[in-house]
Amino acid sequence: MTHAQLRAQFPILEQTLADHPLCYLDTAATSQKPQCVLDAMTAYYQQDNANVHRAAHSLSARATQGYEAVRDKLQRFIKANRREEIIFTHGTTEAINLVANGLSNQLQPGDLILLDGAAHHANIVPWQMLAERCGARIKPIPLTQDCRLDEAAFDALLALKPKIVALGHVSNALGIVNPLQSLIKRAKAAGALTLVDGAQAVAHMPVDVTQLDCDFYAFSGHKMYGPTGVGVLYGRYEVLDSLTPLLTGGEMIKTVSFEATEFGALPNRLEAGTPPIAEVIGLGAAIDFLNSLPRAELQAQEQALLQHLQQQLSSIEGVHLYGAHADNLGAVAFNLADEHHQDVGILLDQQGVAVRCGHHCAMPLMQSLGLKGCCRASLGIYSNEADIARFIQALKQVKDLLL
Ligand code: PMP
Repeated sequence: MTHAQLRAQFPILEQTLADHPLCYLDTAATSQKPQCVLDAMTAYYQQDNANVHRAAHSLSARATQGYEAVRDKLQRFIKANRREEIIFTHGTTEAINLVANGLSNQLQPGDLILLDGAAHHANIVPWQMLAERCGARIKPIPLTQDCRLDEAAFDALLALKPKIVALGHVSNALGIVNPLQSLIKRAKAAGALTLVDGAQAVAHMPVDVTQLDCDFYAFSGHKMYGPTGVGVLYGRYEVLDSLTPLLTGGEMIKTVSFEATEFGALPNRLEAGTPPIAEVIGLGAAIDFLNSLPRAELQAQEQALLQHLQQQLSSIEGVHLYGAHADNLGAVAFNLADEHHQDVGILLDQQGVAVRCGHHCAMPLMQSLGLKGCCRASLGIYSNEADIARFIQALKQVKDLLL
């Protein structure tokens, strides 16, 4: 399959915006969806729609089979040891909340939680809530001048014997990849539970949770060419099984009386209520789609494209890049001189170019960069050199207009 054929599978990219062909550079916010994902969800609603796990009838059996088959696909996709270690959520945010809330009974006043200095708010706020409930303390892991996680500071913090270390895999704001394998090994040696926010990683690189040896790994379907409204929490069986459920009700029980409830076994124990069935089916189609592609080749192409984008941007006088390294994945953060990022974004949009502007749900990171916000251009497997050329040309026009 040529790259043009791959791109043609994303119908939304064929439109024009403000008389310009759409140049979509906001995949880190949400990826576009290939036709096969849209088709799988439509086919599910047209042919199989029923609630899962509950009824004796054939439609429900088909819906259940389709839903549970995606759990198996996900187990293989991230190389989990057991299918019960895959919990469907509504996204990364819910997955991290599920863990932070579920550990409430396991923390004592004064316990320490370490957070990634470049974390997305989804990997900060749930821990703050947990700390408030338990009287635990939070410390951020500082970043170096070049925005990487400061490993010497990390080791010094580990000496304080934290109970939990929550890390990002790839920073959504900057595209920086954490050296997870080594960080997790050190955190585990210090006795901490580890959670990884993989929202920005799964679509860009192979993820092997068994090799990483993390306790939890969270990600969202909509950033990996699947639909919104579905995400995944992977958890090592024993720790996952120790979590107090975030939601309780139907589907997650073994027996209920008015006096007491006995919870069911994993994975149902952590999946109360009717799940996002069509979305799970769509996510399954996205995994099939990714598995059908030469991913290593595409990752290399995407990385080369990102380096090209970084070089092109840095060659424009007045453009500042933040934390731009050759081994970053997926995204580049920048500002145009002292111009407000929102103005730059709006003027780019007028030329059909979609980038993200703001704090990128990473206010502490922005603060450490001395910024209120910035623009972010991000790539997906459909991005090509023409997108970069159009973006750079549009940014030069914005510069001529503003400076
Ligand atoms: N973490 C990171 C690194 C993200 O990029 C995002 C999405 N912006 C999230 C968490 C939250 O994901 P969701 O909104 O799908 O729950």
